[in-house]
Amino acid sequence: MSLSRPPIARRGVAATLAALLLATAPAGAQLPTLGDAGAISSSAERKLGERIARELYRDPDYIDDPELVEYVQSLWQPLLAAARARGELTAELDERFAWQVLLGKDRTINAFALPGGWLGLHLGLVSVTSSRDEVASVLAHELSHVTQRHISRMVAKESQQTPWVLAAMILGAMAASRNPQAGGAVMAGSQALAAQQSLNFSRDMEREADRIGFGVATQAGFEPQGFVTMFEKLQQAARLNDTGNYPYLRTHPMTSERIADMQSRQQLSDHGPVQPTLEHALMAARARVISNPGVDALRATVVEADASGFAALPRVRQANVLYAATLAAWRLRDPAAVSRLMGRLDAVVAGDPTGQRLARLLAAEIALALGDNTRVLRTLDADSKRRPELLLTAQAQVQSGKAAEAAQRLQTWVATQPRDAAAWQLLSSAYAAQGQSLRAVRAEAEARVAQLDYTAALDRFKAAQDLVRRGAGGGDHIEASIIDTRARQVESALREQALER
Ligand SMILES: [Zn+2]
Repeated sequence: MSLSRPPIARRGVAATLAALLLATAPAGAQLPTLGDAGAISSSAERKLGERIARELYRDPDYIDDPELVEYVQSLWQPLLAAARARGELTAELDERFAWQVLLGKDRTINAFALPGGWLGLHLGLVSVTSSRDEVASVLAHELSHVTQRHISRMVAKESQQTPWVLAAMILGAMAASRNPQAGGAVMAGSQALAAQQSLNFSRDMEREADRIGFGVATQAGFEPQGFVTMFEKLQQAARLNDTGNYPYLRTHPMTSERIADMQSRQQLSDHGPVQPTLEHALMAARARVISNPGVDALRATVVEADASGFAALPRVRQANVLYAATLAAWRLRDPAAVSRLMGRLDAVVAGDPTGQRLARLLAAEIALALGDNTRVLRTLDADSKRRPELLLTAQAQVQSGKAAEAAQRLQTWVATQPRDAAAWQLLSSAYAAQGQSLRAVRAEAEARVAQLDYTAALDRFKAAQDLVRRGAGGGDHIEASIIDTRARQVESALREQALER
């Protein structure tokens, strides 16, 4: 919470963390190069963010769940648009930063802003929200930390550190925040926690993120009540001292001042209570099951659908319980329960196009896993321009001898979504299924680039160049020249990184 830790302790922590986390850092690393004024430059911040994001993409908790990603995007994009319209998000930052939300399947209640416009959001947080407005309130707050340059100012306080040490500190603080009781690493844990504290925002910054975030979220069309009910949830957890499950509270203490501020803002805005949507109910259910994969939790989720009070629940709540139960039954590999629960879910969402679509996607996901490709293609519209449909139907096509169709659709997609690693990876398998090995290897390289892993990408590009030299892979001249260009670009990105250490 404070930025005024003794610098010596901070350096000690940083050095220890760096040693722990980046044992591969070269000897003789360069001295600090970050800016010295109140904030680091936006390009330095972006580069620092890339280092951290690259590690997050490799974290086993990182999840690219097409439905949840799409849902979070449907909240995130309007927030960005509102921040632009209000002038909080300047054209310079808009262009320079990533503005991407990465999901983690961790069950704890957490969200965090990282340097360079990356945000992390735990599915545990999504799972405890009762409305889209509550999720949006958290995203808007974190977004405002970035647009107000709080991160760059906080990081600038550590400017005696080299970028890779800073990246290590932030990653270490995040690891500690996720699991403060990590067994066998008590020292590392407590030092990481100290680093986390030195990297926390000040009270003033929190107040500002609340105020700006509130303005952004309401302008984007979210209900002001979402802030209040989210704060109430956090406050309740704080009363129970539940910071183990709510790491968000450690970085965002619920002071009575913050709560009072938010209540008075909400009263001024004169809006009624938040109406939960069916869509949110289903996505919160999905987040809950994915973030609680233990057998006991899954069984308890299935049982909820047959609890005695079920019939009396409101429709939205019934849909939430049934979606979670269906997905949980599938994860328990209980096909009889799946088909029984799916039938009930279909009945509850009938008449709601969004709910029906999400139920269809769930059915298709299960059919795909069972190898029933015909059913996937019958259930979903293969011409849909939406990502969850595209990824599911393309997989079914690749597995059922229709790889050419899949490749064509995926090619069109990555032309406008070049950072979609999952689409590139799938495109790679569509090419491979048609024996187009050169294109397959290049698509794999692009998937690595999309997740900022330039070393692995270069390895793949070189493998592709090798294929060209041996005359293998289809003798595609245009493809070969694209590969040479991309290999050079990735090489220069890697060189630049090495210089920044
Ligand atoms: Zn904050």
